[in-house]
Amino acid sequence: MSVQFEGRRSASFPSTPSGVRLETLGCRLNEAELEGWSREFERRGFRIVGDGEPADLVVINSCAVTQEAVRKSRQILRRVHRANPAARLVVSGCLAALEAEALARESGVDLVVSNRDKDRLVEIALAALAIPAMPELAIDDPAASLFTRGRQRAFVKVQDGCRYQCTFCITTQARGAERSRPIPEVLESVNRLASNGIQEVVLSGVHLGGYGSDLGTDLADLIARLLAETDVARIRLGSLEPWDLPEGFWRLFEDGRLMPHLHLPLQSGSDAVLKRMARRCKTDEFARLVGAGRAAVPDLNLTTDIIVGFPGETEDDWCRTLDFARTMRFGQIHVFGFSPRAGTLAAGLPDRVDAETRKRRCQELKTLADALRLDRLREQIGTRTQVLFEGPPVLPPDVGRSGYTPNYLPVRIAPGLPIASNQLCDVRLTAIDKTGSSLIAEPLDRRGGVE
Ligand code: SF4
Repeated sequence: MSVQFEGRRSASFPSTPSGVRLETLGCRLNEAELEGWSREFERRGFRIVGDGEPADLVVINSCAVTQEAVRKSRQILRRVHRANPAARLVVSGCLAALEAEALARESGVDLVVSNRDKDRLVEIALAALAIPAMPELAIDDPAASLFTRGRQRAFVKVQDGCRYQCTFCITTQARGAERSRPIPEVLESVNRLASNGIQEVVLSGVHLGGYGSDLGTDLADLIARLLAETDVARIRLGSLEPWDLPEGFWRLFEDGRLMPHLHLPLQSGSDAVLKRMARRCKTDEFARLVGAGRAAVPDLNLTTDIIVGFPGETEDDWCRTLDFARTMRFGQIHVFGFSPRAGTLAAGLPDRVDAETRKRRCQELKTLADALRLDRLREQIGTRTQVLFEGPPVLPPDVGRSGYTPNYLPVRIAPGLPIASNQLCDVRLTAIDKTGSSLIAEPLDRRGGVE
């Protein structure tokens, strides 16, 4: 049985609730869960409020993937409580799963909802805190809260939990066993989002490649059904471990609505380190996977995560990681300096890499990542593509609208051009911006000329 911990007992909830503030940090799955709660609150008549607006209820989806994430989760909790001292405060997420009792004692916390009960968080919070819902005001527009937050891509949670035990990862303990949302339920969510104006959904899970293992189906089935039975313009995949990919996976990309971008966490380019991490994919298997993907999917963009300075990482291991990352031509590398996470096996491994070496290696990898990214952006100059422009409806006059190409490269246009948020627009990529991190584009009219 899962348990909710109740913290302080505060004054009763106002009879006319003004707003719910939602905060998350960490992975896309946390974001997807937050969006699910946001839709559920709106369905029950609540208004989702942004930064600076008064809130009666604040819900935080915490993260515990690293000690830094733990620190930030607590920091957000205190900041949000200071800004909304009278609001009821509900905390969930991985930190809540690992340290529920301690969190319930934190100043301001009214309720801690376990990860296992996350899918029922709204119902649980309303009942436990005796918050009156207002069904007469309820709306059924699942996109509204996204647009309110200046977001156009909808993260859709399709799976939770993981059966593996990578030695650096606390997720298995925090999220539990694998479970998947049935295909009809995901279809229904995506169809509702699409009919309310969402153009892009991002399928998210802890171990997305394991989707369906508990339901007798797999990720390929899910994607095929989404392509056949929804009209959403773009389907993107969230982070995917580089193994367990189902039969027929690459063929799905023949449908241009499945976006040619994959985030495949490599973690290290040294097999010796991968073994100590208990990863299920050696470098030669990773390279084969990438080769197959690039052969099957034109312009596939691959991004990754790499942990730097894992215990026992020698200079030779490190050179292998740099070489391998260079060969894989990643479009983006998220660089994580190793920090021991209490409760993981890696925290007890010998031969820690000293802080100075770790820092130097992080810098070397960031330099390589920037160079690879620049190469990737340069290859695109002169090509035509389609961008989903994002952001709030109105921008300051000196800010150009931005968005992403199908293969997830960031694009900006000049300020003042009449492109709306949530608009899919054909563009020509003309240059790289001064920061070296984004492409500059010119919108094309329907005949292919510059508008
Ligand atoms: S496969 Fe991913 S989620 Fe599962 S234990 Fe490893 S890093 Fe964590």
